[in-house]
Amino acid sequence: MTSTKANRIESKLLRRINERRLLEVIQHKGPLSRAALARVSGLTAPTVSKAVDSLLTRGFIEEIDPPEQLLGRPGKLVRMAVESAAVIGISIDTHVCCVVSAGLDGVVTEDRTRRFVTPTDYDALIDALESRCHELLDGIPGKVHGIGVCAPGLVNDRLGEIVFCPNLHLLDKRNPARDLEARLAVKAILFQEIDGLCLSESMYGVARSLNDFALLDVSIGLGMGMMCSGRLFGGRSGMAGELGHITVNPTGVRCGCGNHGCLETLATDAALVRLISEKDGISRSFNEVATALDERPAEYEHEVSTASEYLAIAIAAVINVCNPTMLFVHGTLLVTNEERFARVLKLVKNRTLTASLAECTIVPTKSSKRQAAVAGIVHHLTSEWAPAIP
Ligand SMILES: [Zn+2]
Repeated sequence: MTSTKANRIESKLLRRINERRLLEVIQHKGPLSRAALARVSGLTAPTVSKAVDSLLTRGFIEEIDPPEQLLGRPGKLVRMAVESAAVIGISIDTHVCCVVSAGLDGVVTEDRTRRFVTPTDYDALIDALESRCHELLDGIPGKVHGIGVCAPGLVNDRLGEIVFCPNLHLLDKRNPARDLEARLAVKAILFQEIDGLCLSESMYGVARSLNDFALLDVSIGLGMGMMCSGRLFGGRSGMAGELGHITVNPTGVRCGCGNHGCLETLATDAALVRLISEKDGISRSFNEVATALDERPAEYEHEVSTASEYLAIAIAAVINVCNPTMLFVHGTLLVTNEERFARVLKLVKNRTLTASLAECTIVPTKSSKRQAAVAGIVHHLTSEWAPAIP
């Protein structure tokens, strides 16, 4: 390669890295004027100006008029594209699927969300997703940058498919993103739901300034995600973090993975629903269990105690293994109820190494899986444009 050509590539890369840096500032602190962007990013005014123009052309950001009450003449403000561009996020889950359209600011709203009961076969699932996507795409006036599809199970990045999905076997050896892309002619990217949740906390949540944190999903399956030095930890093929399939009771109930007594059969919302169904001798829905726990907690003391003990073991395992600054827990029955979560945290103390626990803050996650899907596609678009400099 000639030195002129090498220099050209280098300066193109540098330009994009600056654009990515600026995009992150706009994402976290926008809307901002160009002058404020220069101040906050530390880049020179001409560099900011060039980068903003490039990002405008690319359709990642848009300019808006400043509020009238703002003193002086700050010029137009720059923010993530909300009116001029959009992405679609899809969350596929065991019981309910969710399709949402959102601006590049990642804000999700109910009026742009479509939900449906997860069909029992794969073709019906793709049909249902396609029709919801069409419905939302028709309402988007600007550019559609892409679709993020987040799914449970083992998403193998090298093979580009869900190789195995213990709680939704219709996804085994499938790639719904690839199949939707073929039908909709819009770029679609597949990723594991836990990775999406980590990205969502990192981009839109309280983990914005954190380079090292972990996230535990205890809703239906039990999975762990980890951000190490600002990057997602995925192992060789992106399948790391399957903490839920560690055996904790060799003679326990059969898990979706085929083994018996996996941690996820005892420590999740789904586990608590099963335990309460067994006690009542009738199959209970998630909503029935949520109501029963609020109205008659004493009746289900043993079941809550069992699930809390195992959830504490799961939390302790993540803290002991990963030494995170912060651990986010994504779940409902034992997590969003303050009293029940406080009880779990008390049990965590008995199971965790004191020194590791002292360095970790444990909080319920604020992100939803539909927001995780949006975060995933926005992250993909920006990473594809330029690498991040941690
Ligand atoms: Zn299992």
